[in-house]
Amino acid sequence: MGCVRPCKNRKKGLKLDEIDQAQEREEIGLADAIRAARAQRPAIVATGVCLYCLEPVPYGHRWCIGGACRDAWCKERGQK
Ligand SMILES: [Zn+2]
Repeated sequence: MGCVRPCKNRKKGLKLDEIDQAQEREEIGLADAIRAARAQRPAIVATGVCLYCLEPVPYGHRWCIGGACRDAWCKERGQK
């Protein structure tokens, strides 16, 4: 019975470690996803402004919300 308290503390510490590891894995997964996305479309990078009309757009977006600028941009580039 003398080890009940230390064992409890140990378990708690282990759980915190597991959370840390899970967060680390998540960050690595996100970095991998970003890298993969960049590798797929190296020429089209989100810069913070619409690639077509140069209006500011939310982070991660490449064109204005709605798709009109994307469509026009793709037509100009001969893409679909
Ligand atoms: Zn635009």
